[in-house]
Amino acid sequence: MGALLFHSTNDQSPAVNLREALLTGQAPDRGLYLPKGFPRLTDEEIAAFADLPYREIAFRVLSPYTQDVIEPHVLSAMCADAYNFEVPLEKVYDRVHVMRLDRGPTASFKDFAARMMARLMGHFLRADGRQLTILTATSGDTGSAVAHAFHKVPGIRVIVLFPFAEVSTSQRKLMTTLRDNVRTIAVDGKFDDCQAMVKRAFADPDLKHHSLSSANSINIGRLLPQSVYYFYAAARLAKPGESVVFAVPSGNFGDMMGAVVAEQMGLAVRKLIAPVNDNDAFPRFLASGRYEKVVPSRNSLSNAMNVGHPSNLARLVALYGGQMDETGKIHRMPDLAAMRQELFSSAVSDERTRQTIKAVWDKYQLLLEPHGAVAWRGFEDWQECESLNGLPAVVLETADPAKFPEEIEKNMGWSPDVPPAMAAAIQLPEDYDTMKADYEELRAYLLTTSLRF
Ligand SMILES: *Cc1c(COP(=O)(O)O)cnc(C)c1O
Repeated sequence: MGALLFHSTNDQSPAVNLREALLTGQAPDRGLYLPKGFPRLTDEEIAAFADLPYREIAFRVLSPYTQDVIEPHVLSAMCADAYNFEVPLEKVYDRVHVMRLDRGPTASFKDFAARMMARLMGHFLRADGRQLTILTATSGDTGSAVAHAFHKVPGIRVIVLFPFAEVSTSQRKLMTTLRDNVRTIAVDGKFDDCQAMVKRAFADPDLKHHSLSSANSINIGRLLPQSVYYFYAAARLAKPGESVVFAVPSGNFGDMMGAVVAEQMGLAVRKLIAPVNDNDAFPRFLASGRYEKVVPSRNSLSNAMNVGHPSNLARLVALYGGQMDETGKIHRMPDLAAMRQELFSSAVSDERTRQTIKAVWDKYQLLLEPHGAVAWRGFEDWQECESLNGLPAVVLETADPAKFPEEIEKNMGWSPDVPPAMAAAIQLPEDYDTMKADYEELRAYLLTTSLRF
């Protein structure tokens, strides 16, 4: 079988294999990589996942992408190593479930992708003795997940930019306490500023020899592992021939793209609900067909979703036959009717988020944090338009409530328990640099600071 190739959503760069796509991050034409054709799993193969542990499902879903570049026993060991924590599927009522993706080392769903990508990258780099700098911008959770995943991986160093005022104390401490090959920079600005600075560094010819790579959700190595938990949940909940409703709290749209990838690979999805916070560019686009970024991005309780222009929309648009460039300009309209048929999105304000946390606790004794609450409320919004008709539904809880103690305390009058791994991490002393939201400062930093690999 021929190698599976990845092409750029901007169509101006050559197609590359997984190894190249992963190490480059963004394509040279500034587009995002997508497989040229998706490998398909049969209904029987998917149904068989029902009795398999998560790591084995990950192995089976990812194998078709890695077959030319990684030996099966190596991939299998990576999956076992990366996915050594629980993935609880908790029934809330009838066939409606919450899937908890918050049991990894940094208590956010980003651990799923970051841990796999770190292992893939480490493997490729070791093979040819190269060194790499991961430069990434975070709105809170990416930074800690990526920093933990790459901490002490030989040949890789990590630089994380975060908007100082937009991340919670525990989110910050989960990345600033690592040290070794990890540096964190507190930027006096917004997440969008951090992301823009990182993007400019990637395009800067003077930094070419620095071997920069991004670990943001634009990296295909982040995206593919995020398709696995949709298979896992569906295989456990759906009867033969049934499809599943998923509600995914969305910021940069990497998580919901995982569901789209799963669907492309053969998973039956009844509706994919992608609610957002006040950063409502996507629901407005679905409704009107006009795409307008939210500039500047709006702060909200679900701070890991404060994204004014979600990068992954370029991929979503491409899979619906359109083309959107990295600035958000649409060069070819996607099939909007098909998008509306398969996707639903609504904007959930902070006020509605707070109400939902309270209401879901009162009704089901289920404690959601702000991101999960956005997903839950979006799921309710959808049910005002369409009926679930007895099908299984899965609402994704993407972080542990203990990451947002202030908000839970304010809303509920008590604080959530802190998971032991997180409690230990946030006791350690912090160490980070500071910077204005100014690309020249970052450039000078990258050119002059010597960091340990
Ligand atoms: C990053 C993040 C999201 C949003 O995921 P995207 O892939 O950016 O849409 C949701 N919840 C939490 C807790 C996150 O960290």
